[in-house]
Amino acid sequence: MKKIKSKSGVTAIFAAIAVVGLLIVAAAGVRQIRASTTTTAAAAPRLTLDPGQFTGETRQAYTVAEKHPELLAQLDCYCGCEQHEGHKNLLDCFRTMHGAGCDICVGEAVTAGQMYDSGTPVDQIRTALQTRYGHGG
Ligand SMILES: [Zn+2]
Repeated sequence: MKKIKSKSGVTAIFAAIAVVGLLIVAAAGVRQIRASTTTTAAAAPRLTLDPGQFTGETRQAYTVAEKHPELLAQLDCYCGCEQHEGHKNLLDCFRTMHGAGCDICVGEAVTAGQMYDSGTPVDQIRTALQTRYGHGG
């Protein structure tokens, strides 16, 4: 009798440990999810620089980049940065100060933004930029 009783006592302790263990795992999981959510929100990437720090056309260009990153990502930059800076598209020019010092980048972004806002399809915008800024491209 005594033996059986003590055995079930041990089982109960193990069960309790298992429950506590599960709770700890669950709590850690929740904390992890919460942490990753917070990280994502905090790091919500600003793709391009804040237009507020610029003026005039440069500001307009950075505003276009901020409003329509998906547009600029589909357009080429003809200022030569694709060779020299490893830029992949016009959006890259506005991730840094590069765009602020380049009339071509600024001109392209402002032109693209105006055409886009008036409903011009992206492939027509691309062609227009190529004609205006491309080197016989
Ligand atoms: Zn550029």
